[in-house]
Amino acid sequence: MQKLSLWRITLDTNPEDCNFHCIMCEEHSPFSDYIRKKLNGKRRRMPKEWLEPIFKQAQKLGVKEIIPSTMGEPLIYRHFDTIVEFCYKYNIKMNLTTNGSFPSVNGRTVEEWAKWIVPITTDVKFSWNGAKKETDEKVMIGKNFEKSLQNVKTFINIRDEHYQKTGHYCRVTFQLTFMRNNMHELPDIVRLAAELGVDRVKGHHLWAHFEEIKHLSVKVSPESIVQWNQYVEEAYQVREKFLRPNGQKVLLEQIFPLQPEEQHEVPEHYECPFLNKELWISAEGVISPCCAPDEQRKTLGYFGNIQDTTLEEVLQSESYQNLVKNYKKMDLCKTCNMRKPK
Ligand code: SF4
Ligand code: SF4
Repeated sequence: MQKLSLWRITLDTNPEDCNFHCIMCEEHSPFSDYIRKKLNGKRRRMPKEWLEPIFKQAQKLGVKEIIPSTMGEPLIYRHFDTIVEFCYKYNIKMNLTTNGSFPSVNGRTVEEWAKWIVPITTDVKFSWNGAKKETDEKVMIGKNFEKSLQNVKTFINIRDEHYQKTGHYCRVTFQLTFMRNNMHELPDIVRLAAELGVDRVKGHHLWAHFEEIKHLSVKVSPESIVQWNQYVEEAYQVREKFLRPNGQKVLLEQIFPLQPEEQHEVPEHYECPFLNKELWISAEGVISPCCAPDEQRKTLGYFGNIQDTTLEEVLQSESYQNLVKNYKKMDLCKTCNMRKPK
């Protein structure tokens, strides 16, 4: 039997629950009619009884990390606390992406949230889209910039205290969507991260789901790309100059200059970072090999549903192994910007 090397699973627990309406969000943007039209107003939520069997399978396969929902706000998921409990019970770490609003579930404060999740978390990504209030709130509709800033400070204080006491370190990241209406603040976001003690700034370029935001793509014109490249250079200069309180530099990831004429296909030798290493399970139980947008991901094949198959069976199935061997020939994978040099 082939040795399995699955190390992370993402559970799309509650993709339709969020208290923000970010303009670029596939499901919650004011420009999106996804929930109303496609789902007919219904919201998908992963049933609680699926969670423990998934954790048991994950532990058996040697999985190290679980990511609760990257679409939707995971802290709003009704069974989020159960996931945290299973992380403790099965000794699997959590990797969390949150909008940083820390909803007051049962009166829980930000301090209480942080004390609950820091000990079992390896990385917390705060969605962040501006160094200035006006810019950030214009992208993340519903956000209160000052409150989010205070939440990050509180979270980092608890993180640092926990590290002093136990040696367990929970990395904190600012996660951006790079767009023409916030790229000019990239250097200042790096400066802000350094000041706050945020470890890492990373992001990805806009996936323009709606006509109304297509003009916000950095890749919209060669001039825009030249501008982006200047901000990238400045961001790296700021990184050298402004250190975090512990004297270290902020880590910058996926922040690099673009070619004036972006190539359509990625180089053949670039590898998929996910195959044989990570799996995604949707709120409806569908198991997927990666996080490409739903409709396009379906072109990669069908790999089963957690209600009637196991993760191990999926990894060893003919359809999955066929994808692992042949993905570079698939149309979606040929242009996938998640592929990287080895
Ligand atoms: S915080 Fe995330 S899920 Fe919520 S609206 Fe913004 S992008 Fe969408
Ligand atoms: S689209 Fe293909 S190359 Fe890209 S992440 Fe998915 S499987 Fe990997």
